[in-house]
Amino acid sequence: LVRDGEVYPIKGLRARNLELESLVVERTLALEEANKKLQALSNTDGLTGIANRRKFDNLFAQEWNRAQRTGTPLALVMLDVDLFKHYNDHYGHVAGDSCLQALAGALVKAGRRAGELVARYGGEAFVVLLPDTNAQDALETARNMQHEVWSLALPHAETAPGIVTFSLGVASLVPSRQHSPEYLIQQADLALYRAKEAGRNCVQLAT
Ligand code: GH3
Ligand code: MG
Repeated sequence: LVRDGEVYPIKGLRARNLELESLVVERTLALEEANKKLQALSNTDGLTGIANRRKFDNLFAQEWNRAQRTGTPLALVMLDVDLFKHYNDHYGHVAGDSCLQALAGALVKAGRRAGELVARYGGEAFVVLLPDTNAQDALETARNMQHEVWSLALPHAETAPGIVTFSLGVASLVPSRQHSPEYLIQQADLALYRAKEAGRNCVQLAT
C-alpha cells in the first residue's frame, strides 16, 4: 500500500489498526472507571464517608415521586447531636470531628430497612430516608439508632447522662400533590425541635 509517498505493508497497517482499537477500548474503560469514582466522591461526605446532602436531596426527590405514584408512605428521621458546641469547646475540634465519624458509623450500623439512606445533612445533623415506612416503623428505626449511639458511650462532660446523645425528629406521610417534599422535611425538623425543647436525648414524632 502506498500512502503519501510512503510504502506500508498491508499486514502492518492492519496490526496498527487493531492496536489503536484496543487502545481506544482501554482508554474508554479507564474513563468510565474515573467517572464512577468521581460520581461516588460527589455523593460522599468527606469527613464521615457516608452519603452527603447532595445524595440525600437526589434520592429524596426520587423516592418522593415513587411513593406518590405507588401510594406508599415515606419517612424521615432527623438527628442532631446534643450540645455539640460544648463538645467542641471542651474536647477540641479534632475530637469533635472524630466524634462525628463515630456517630455516622453507628447510625449506618443501626439501620437495616431495605432502601434506607443515612446521610450527613450538614454540620452535626444527620438524616435517614426511609422508603415504604410508616410512622411506627420509622419510630422503631429512630430508637434503634438512639440505642446504637448510647452504646458507643462517647464521654460528653456537658450532657445530663455524661455521654454524646442525639435529639431525633420522625415524620412519615403518603406523598400527595398538595404537599411538596419540603413539607416532610419541615415536619421532621419540627419534631426534632420539639425533642430539643423536651430536654434533648429523646425521639419525637411529628403530629
Ligand atoms: P443543640 O443541642 O441545641 O443542638 O446544641 P448544639 O451545641 O449542638 O448546637 P449549635 O448549633 O449551637 O452548635 C453546633 C456545633 O456543631 C457548632 C459547630 O462548630 C459544630 N460543628 C458543625 N459541624 C462540625 C464539624 O464538621 N466538625 C466539628 N468538630 N464541629 C462541627
Ligand atoms: Mg446540635
